[in-house]
Amino acid sequence: MPSTTKVEVKCEKCKRPFEADVIDHIDLHEDPELIRPLRNGKANRVQCPKCRKVMYLDRSIVVNFEPMNLVVVYDPNAKSKEAREALQKHYENITRFNETLLETGRDMEFRVITDLKELRKLLDQYVRQYGL
Ligand SMILES: [Zn+2]
Repeated sequence: MPSTTKVEVKCEKCKRPFEADVIDHIDLHEDPELIRPLRNGKANRVQCPKCRKVMYLDRSIVVNFEPMNLVVVYDPNAKSKEAREALQKHYENITRFNETLLETGRDMEFRVITDLKELRKLLDQYVRQYGL
């Protein structure tokens, strides 16, 4: 299961605020069914409980490409160099203390991606490589 966080979302249509569960971390080998929505930039689908309006949120998502030694932070809003560097630093700090990573002692590559096309390329490569 992907890990999720509760966030407050404001409906684009009726402007009502509501709470939604959004995905913030995906392990591709555990949740291969999420590859398709990720590819389409639609991993975070929420629906307004009042007017039923469906929205796709542009939030950052951590994608673990295991068994490739690659972790991607996809954030379509981190356009500036500063924003990307801040994300990179943030996730390096988290993973430095991640027990699983410490145990295996593997070198993980971290990449911050803001362009959906770039994320797609990596996902396609992953699918091809692991025959999903
Ligand atoms: Zn609404």
